[in-house]
Amino acid sequence: MKKLLLILLLSPLLLFAQSNVTLQVLGSGGPESGDKRASSGYIIWIDGKSKILIDFGGGASLRFEEAGARIQDLEVILLTHLHVDHTADLPALLKSSFFTRASGDLHVYGPDKNVFMPSTKSFVNRLFADGKGAWQYLGDHLDGRATLQLKAHNISKNLKAKVIYRKGDISIKAVSVHHGPIPAIAYRIEIGKKSITFSGDMNGDYHTLEKLAKYTNILVVHNAIPKGSKGVAAKLHMTPYTIGQIAKISGTKMLVLSHRMLRTLGKEKETKSEIRKYYKGNIKFADDKSRYKL
Ligand SMILES: [Zn+2]
Repeated sequence: MKKLLLILLLSPLLLFAQSNVTLQVLGSGGPESGDKRASSGYIIWIDGKSKILIDFGGGASLRFEEAGARIQDLEVILLTHLHVDHTADLPALLKSSFFTRASGDLHVYGPDKNVFMPSTKSFVNRLFADGKGAWQYLGDHLDGRATLQLKAHNISKNLKAKVIYRKGDISIKAVSVHHGPIPAIAYRIEIGKKSITFSGDMNGDYHTLEKLAKYTNILVVHNAIPKGSKGVAAKLHMTPYTIGQIAKISGTKMLVLSHRMLRTLGKEKETKSEIRKYYKGNIKFADDKSRYKL
């Protein structure tokens, strides 16, 4: 019996055991007040640890606490772009680390600059750097003095997905997406054989997401505009019709709709039937703290 147990323990199959992976939505809303939702934010739990954070807009910090996530377990923060509803709670997160044993390097990835927006490195410096940051009293997290160090990285505009991070069984790919004039990135996070892909805010014009999300387990898209939207809103965001096309072409197993706004809330039936014209898989409308196990 003992021998059998030992054989089982040493079985090479166990070396390939898959991690437990869960996607949790922190904020399922957009930038508006009145949607009763936190702004954009997601956490990926790997074997019970809050390892990867995607966006961190207003209110996401409270949801992070409520979800039981810990900054000392975070390895990477991925910013889809630098709009307020995707980044506003970062200072709160960094400050909260002071009261924990968080240490080592915390990597922050986001887009490079253009004429409208700073690069992610410059954004982090303007927030925290000693002598120039709005919260320069947290500058010790950039210059080596604090135990937890923020390491910011710029992702240059690239219409072909590239690997930006690899550690253990985690691999992260990034590609540019079209969000009007704002530099924006979609990410695919692979953990072993499982994957989650995040569109961020985008309107689909670059046709990069459908390739990035090929056969992904979960595709998280932003449901910021309803059927028939035109003008500025449609230059920034995907219509349900476009979401359906991308979900179908990518062959994603599950579609999670988030970044829900007053103009789309209450229109779930209409949105779903637009998406259904193309996509026959599982469709979920996210709420704050919704969890999806892979
Ligand atoms: Zn947004």
